[in-house]
Amino acid sequence: MSNKRKRVLVKFSGEALAGENGFGIDTVILKFIANEIKTLVEHDIEIGIVIGGGNIIRGVSAAKDGIIKRSSGDYMGMLSTVINSIAMQEALEHVGMDVRVQSAIKMEAISETFIVRRAKRHLEKGRIVIFAAGTGNPFFTTDTAATLRAIEIDADMIIKATKVDGVYDRDPNKFSDAKKYNRLSYEMAMDDHIKVMDDTSIALAKDNSLPIIVCNMFEKENLLRIIEGNYESCSIVNKTNNV
Ligand code: UDP
Repeated sequence: MSNKRKRVLVKFSGEALAGENGFGIDTVILKFIANEIKTLVEHDIEIGIVIGGGNIIRGVSAAKDGIIKRSSGDYMGMLSTVINSIAMQEALEHVGMDVRVQSAIKMEAISETFIVRRAKRHLEKGRIVIFAAGTGNPFFTTDTAATLRAIEIDADMIIKATKVDGVYDRDPNKFSDAKKYNRLSYEMAMDDHIKVMDDTSIALAKDNSLPIIVCNMFEKENLLRIIEGNYESCSIVNKTNNV
């Protein structure tokens, strides 16, 4: 058996940080996530993180009345992810973790610039790396950024940490008979009524055989259970199609 450490990219949506408020950053949630990540590091797992920006601003909404251009709105969205990343860095340091933020847009006063070789060195040294500012390009999402970074750092999997415990055929909050898929193919994950992530991210994951895991981030030690191979409380998108 290989004793190579597992390397995982965890993607949190910006909205998840907002908690009940629906906007801004809830430090109680931040601390909960920081402790979950700490547990992973203590189990010798190398962790990269991407956080969305939806709790602050999204390009599409910023541009909806035509005053702000979509591309500018997207840059505003990317800056939101930097705000969230700095908050997460603080929370992780608060629980004793060693963290680096690497931004896709150069911002040297507050973060390193993304350099994949440097990111890998940090991970090898047991540091958590938070990848901020998405891909650095408008018209993309942080799901795509997370998939891209996961592939670049040779992660074993990407975990999309959400408010639900997996992928359903219908919204489980609205339909009590919604069916959960434990395993899905990449093609199924692209299906319009499922939409695990946007098509660009899934296509990238598929081309590079990167497994995508969708799970509930609010269940204590769930991330650890999943990374250690207990897939009951999540859905996996990968090459096999035994639903
Ligand atoms: N964004 C972008 N390029 C990227 C990643 C993000 O332009 O590579 C912008 C886009 O406007 C997006 C916003 O940043 O709406 C926030 O990201 P996202 O909507 O993915 O955040 P989440 O829904 O995960 O909170």
